[in-house]
Formats: sequence, structure tokens, C-alpha cells
Amino acid sequence: MASYKILMAASEAAPFARTGGLGDVLGALPKALARRGHLVKLFLPHYAKVEHNNLPLRPLEPAFEINIDGKQYPASFEGCHDRRHNYETILVNNEYFYDRPELYRDPGTGKDYTDNDERFIFFNLAVMEMIKAMDWQPDIIHVHDWQAGLIPVYLKTLYKDDRFFAGVKTVLTIHNMGYQGVFESKRFRKLGLSEDLFYSVTGPFEFYEKVNFLKASILYTDAVTTVSARYADEIQSSEEMGAGLQDVLKTRRNNLTGIVNGVDYHLWSPTKDKKIPFHYNRSNLTGKRENKAVLLNKAGLPLRHKVPLIGIISRLADQKGFDLIARSAENLFELNLQMIVLGTGELKYHDLLLELEKRYPDKLKVYLTFDDDLAHLIEAGADMFLMPSRYEPCGLNQMYSLRYGTVPIVREVGGLADTVVNYNPETRQGTGFVFKEYTPEALLETVKRAVELYTRKKIWTKIMKAGMVQDFSWDKSAARYADLYEDLVRK
Ligand code: ADP
Repeated sequence: MASYKILMAASEAAPFARTGGLGDVLGALPKALARRGHLVKLFLPHYAKVEHNNLPLRPLEPAFEINIDGKQYPASFEGCHDRRHNYETILVNNEYFYDRPELYRDPGTGKDYTDNDERFIFFNLAVMEMIKAMDWQPDIIHVHDWQAGLIPVYLKTLYKDDRFFAGVKTVLTIHNMGYQGVFESKRFRKLGLSEDLFYSVTGPFEFYEKVNFLKASILYTDAVTTVSARYADEIQSSEEMGAGLQDVLKTRRNNLTGIVNGVDYHLWSPTKDKKIPFHYNRSNLTGKRENKAVLLNKAGLPLRHKVPLIGIISRLADQKGFDLIARSAENLFELNLQMIVLGTGELKYHDLLLELEKRYPDKLKVYLTFDDDLAHLIEAGADMFLMPSRYEPCGLNQMYSLRYGTVPIVREVGGLADTVVNYNPETRQGTGFVFKEYTPEALLETVKRAVELYTRKKIWTKIMKAGMVQDFSWDKSAARYADLYEDLVRK
């Protein structure tokens, strides 16, 4: 097995900074690649929020300045070597850009920071200059989402004659087509690139007269991946799923593959999860009932073992299907169930959930925070997990739920469709409940089906156990990335 030097760049990575699945992936994939013998350096902006959990940071040389549109911005670096898992994270410092309360959004306005283009142009250039300064020449540069997507573009434009980068291959992984890095046309000059990359009909950055970072990245990278096989098809086949880039993606179809995300079972297993009070496994589920009691008690909801408890842990974004829940609420909360929701995001969903909580105080508890400890307790204590997403590139919580015996109820899209098998009453096979149409009726009918089966103890336990043995470990997915790197290097 060949060993490659792999540079990863992304805007979030556990345990340092995460807002969603991207952070989980970047917390696990470098470890899985390192286990296969690859040398991984992961670059990440050093946000105010970065937590390095006792991993020591050491300053790295050199520091320098990055020029954006005639202005100089200082870049300095700190390294953090994870000896146990054998890879290095390098944090890119710039107080002006990163010392802010949130990663992407101004909590004051609830909107994206107005200079997100500059914040990430800076990041991409700083990464490229730093690996040159360190004289660390990677075989593969693997970038994630638009925030790191400029590297493949710069490599073939500003740096095309730079011998340091000769022969380096690039992979872009798209974690969500809903976020493309789109900016007003006048911002194009910040990129420092030749005008014809934008001001022409075929300009790779041109997108309905705006500047689109992801579009250019898709066109310049050597290979594109996304995070499930189903999503790889979906994003090429409709305007809605491709979010306007479906035709651009089609032009790369021969270099576009879906590789499903894995689960970090060191962090997410009911047998050893450090964040839950009671451990349990397939042959002894007592701990799960005990976790449920702890969770309900914490939430101030009445303890009713015969009533199923549905968990939701989610970014509160249009993608996640909260409008369906709102539209079916009246009938949904008539059912014999309880629900705990943990999420943060768009203010309209904060309001909506608080309103529902007021209406159904003994059935629904809402937590509007980002709380990893609570997320683990919900996975361990709930009976079912609801993900009625409008679209879902991969989704991690349904996979965590399977392992925790928390039966997922999901919509048949993207990674949800690839990882949850709808329970079939005739064959008595299945790991969860799946519905197709994005309608309140379909959601309601499916939750009803699950709630009814919950009372049939034997069948229910069988469904739980069928989920608990599913294996979505990173090793398989990391092997697929490694194969892709190998193909690229050989080309
Ligand atoms: P997405 O990447 O679209 O946000 P995923 O299902 O892929 O969705 O990943 C979500 C990850 O973020 C999971 O690890 C989930 O537990 C975590 N998460 C999301 N919201 C919260 C929250 N409010 N508190 C704690 N963890 C959260």
C-alpha cells in the first residue's frame, strides 16, 4: 500500500471547531488515513472558538503576510500534533478574520459575515504559502467545501508555473451543495485572478452575474467527491438538488464519485461513550432505559417508558425539514409520543420550536444550543430519531442513531436513503422507517407507523438490534479515498 503525503484543508474539524457534519468528518478522516500509513497535515482557521482539549499547540515558523486586493494581512501558524492518531493539525491565525464569536455568521445580525470571501481567500492563500515555506510538498491536496475550494483554482492559475506544486493532485469533497460561497460581482477582484475567469460567458467563477467559489473549484479540481452515492446522483439530476450547479457537475461526471461518510465509533458507541451515564449493548439494553430516564428527568418531561421518545439533533436550517414538522404538529403531538429537540440556527426555527414547546409542554422539550454532551445523551436515551430532511448529502445522526438502537425515521433522500433500510412488515426486515414524499402527511403516516410498532416489544427490539450491528466505520470509506488518491497519482 502506497503512503502519500496528504494536505487537508477545511473550515471546521473536530475537536477544534465544528458546527455540523463537516467537522465530524475532518475529525475522523485524517485519523483513518493515518491508520492506513498516510501522512496527513490538516489546515484549519484558528477561530476564537477553537478548543484544543489539552492537545498542546506550538508556534510554527515562519509568519508572513498575505496580500488581498492591495492590503497586507498577517498570517501566523500553530501546530498541534496528535501523537495518538498520528497526524498534525495546523491552525492559521489572523485575529482580524478569525477572532469572532461564530465561525461563519454574525450572531448580532444572524447573517453571514460580510467579508467571508476575504476570510477564506486569506485561508487558502495562507495554506499554500505555508506548505511552501515548510517545504512540505504533498502528493494530494484534499479540500472540503467552498471555504477551502480555492486551492485547486490557485494551483492552476496563480501558481501554475510554481515548480513546488508541479504534479500535485487535488480532490474537492462537497459536503453540501446548499453552500457555495456566492458573492457580489464587485468582490471578484479580491481573488487576485485574471478578469476573464469571471467576466466572460464561460468564466469559471461566473454564476448569474455573481461570483461562485464552489463552481470554480468543481471546474479546476482533478477529482470531485461528495458524501454519499445517492447524493452524487441527485446533485447532477435536478436544479433543486444541484442548487444551480447541476450542469457544471455533469461536465465532471467522469471524475465525480460518492463516498459515504463514516462514523467515528470511538466517540459514538453506546458501549464506551464517555458522555453518557449508562453504557449498554445489543444483548443488554438496560442502560438505554436508564439513559432515557436521565434524559427525560433533565428535560423535565414525565417519565413514561411505554411512550416512545423521539430525538432530534440538528442545525436549524431549511434543509432539515422543520417546516414539515411545523405543518404536521397538530396531528403529530396528538400521537402518544414525547420529543426532545436540540438545535441552533435560523431564528425563524428558534421561534417556531419555542412556540410548539409552549403548546405541548408535557410532550416537547426544546434546547436551542450547541451541546455535544446533550447530543450524546439524546442518542443514548431516545427511542427514535427523526430526520425529515428536504435533502441530506450524507447525514451522520441517523448512523449514530442506528448504533445506539435509536430507530431512525428519515426521508428517502441522499445519505439517509443509502444508510437506513425501511422496515418491511412482511419480511420483518429493516433498520428504520423511511418516507418518500416531502409532505406532512407522509411524515405523519410514518411516525404513526413507528409509534404503533413501538408497543410490539419483540418486533421493536429486533429493529433496534438490526440497526446496532450496522457498520459504517471510517475504515471502508478511507480505503475508498486512498484508492482515489492512488488513481490520481498514477495518472
Ligand atoms: P449537517 O452536517 O448537515 O449539520 P450531519 O447529520 O451530517 O448534518 O451532522 C451533524 C453533526 O452535528 C452531528 O454530529 C450532530 O450531533 C452535530 N450537531 C448538530 N447540531 C448540534 C447541536 N445543536 N448540538 C450538538 N451537536 C449538534
